[in-house]
Amino acid sequence: MNTNSIFQVAQEAFLFYKNLSGKEKGAFLDKLADILESQRAEIVPLAVRESNLPEGRINGELGRTTGQIRLFANLVKEGSWVEATIDPALPDRSPLPRADIRRFLTPLGPVVVFGASNFPLAFSTAGGDSISALAAGCSLIYKAHPAHPETSRKVAACIQEALTASGLPAGLFTHVEGGIAEGQALVQHPLAKAVAFTGSHAGGMALFQLANQREEPIPVYAEMGSVNPIFCFPNKLAQETESLAKAFIASLTLGVGQFCTNPGLIFVPASQAKAFEALLIEELKGIAAAPMLHPGIAQAYYDSIQYLESREELRWIKVADPKHLLNGSAALAEIQVADWLKDKQFQKEVFGSFALMVVYQDVAELAEVAKQLHGQLTITVWAEAEELQSQLFLINLLEEKCGRLLFKGAPTGVEVGHAMQHGGPFPATTAPNSTSVGAYAIKRFARPIAFQDMPSGLLPDALQDHNPLGIWRQVNGIVTMK
Ligand code: NAP
Repeated sequence: MNTNSIFQVAQEAFLFYKNLSGKEKGAFLDKLADILESQRAEIVPLAVRESNLPEGRINGELGRTTGQIRLFANLVKEGSWVEATIDPALPDRSPLPRADIRRFLTPLGPVVVFGASNFPLAFSTAGGDSISALAAGCSLIYKAHPAHPETSRKVAACIQEALTASGLPAGLFTHVEGGIAEGQALVQHPLAKAVAFTGSHAGGMALFQLANQREEPIPVYAEMGSVNPIFCFPNKLAQETESLAKAFIASLTLGVGQFCTNPGLIFVPASQAKAFEALLIEELKGIAAAPMLHPGIAQAYYDSIQYLESREELRWIKVADPKHLLNGSAALAEIQVADWLKDKQFQKEVFGSFALMVVYQDVAELAEVAKQLHGQLTITVWAEAEELQSQLFLINLLEEKCGRLLFKGAPTGVEVGHAMQHGGPFPATTAPNSTSVGAYAIKRFARPIAFQDMPSGLLPDALQDHNPLGIWRQVNGIVTMK
């Protein structure tokens, strides 16, 4: 099918699908989760082979994928996500009567999703972006990631099977393979209403610019990764040096560092830097180099390391060794905070198990760090309760720079739930008011519409007076289920 035909069928399917009830949409999603689970034995080996990720991880990722599909299924079956808001008419209001105004969220239309290489299942064909778009009521044109083509085709077939079994049009989902030109043509098509992407800064920005150059600009929800700084405070570090060193190295090397929440920066007080460093070296001894997702990612990792090796401000704690075309070997370097502050290059993400340990003399220096910090998906603060109390100004600054602020544990491991926020200020994403993980991800693919004085027979169920869906609504400014 050419791009025009893809969008024609997607538009037709959308106009039918958007009016189905949340229960029908949810049933389709549940069916898809069932089918994916039933095909586990075929899907897992494909994804393992194409991603170099271990079987245990891929098995877990499939569980996470079906788990998030069911989360969205339940969300739309329950139905309150549409934010139904009703201001009934006040015909006797003076000096002017008020019209009847009812507002809710309606799906955008056909949307384009780009799969990610580092999650062949959970952020790919039936991943969070795709499913939140389908849950919202959009039709989906999915641009497969070339790193795992067979996995993608297999999951696409499962989606088609679920559509057929649910009596839904095949045009609701189209699987597109190809390169940059094919992806760009999808973003440029006049019927496309939004784009979701997870990947590199260059890729995300290219698509964002393309979407903004269209005659009708459309939103691009690009998640482009970050360096996820960890701020260690002296008392906390003194009391828990060993366990914090373990937690940091485990997070840094998880999945060969190929997570957008990988901690690539850690701020450590000078008084404890040597002791902490010794523990980090010890921990790293137990971590073997392992294959990265694909040669291109490994090459990008070693290119970044090579650049950093040319910078004299860095002292290497552990070099990436042995350098191998595919294997990612962890690396760690130290820099003084004054040097780090001088060059934004030291904030650039190195996708893989690399981190920069930034040594500060005084916690007062961290305020300047926070001011210069780019937008992040996550920031982690390891501090004692009293240290936090004395650093409220810093915490206030850090809140401005991230989508998720952690006070315990490490940033890797993104819970898929109702409250999760996986996004953040630019350059972490192009849309800081959105999340690509968790229930709120659905809102990216819907827009508000208000009906003024619409005859009650025409109103959607969510906005009918007697609340036939039994959802939470705001009526006259009061949240109610009536
Ligand atoms: P990528 O290069 O950004 O590619 C992701 C998808 O976007 C691919 O389908 C790719 O098309 C497409 N794309 C990239 N640039 C494009 C452009 N200018 N126009 C249209 N489409 C474009 O990501 P990747 O291949 O997964 O990995 C490369 C680097 O991305 C990594 O080294 C890492 O730095 C970063 N990364 C970040 C995350 C994250 O979580 N934010 C995840 C994975 C990777 P093709 O099909 O033609 O390749």
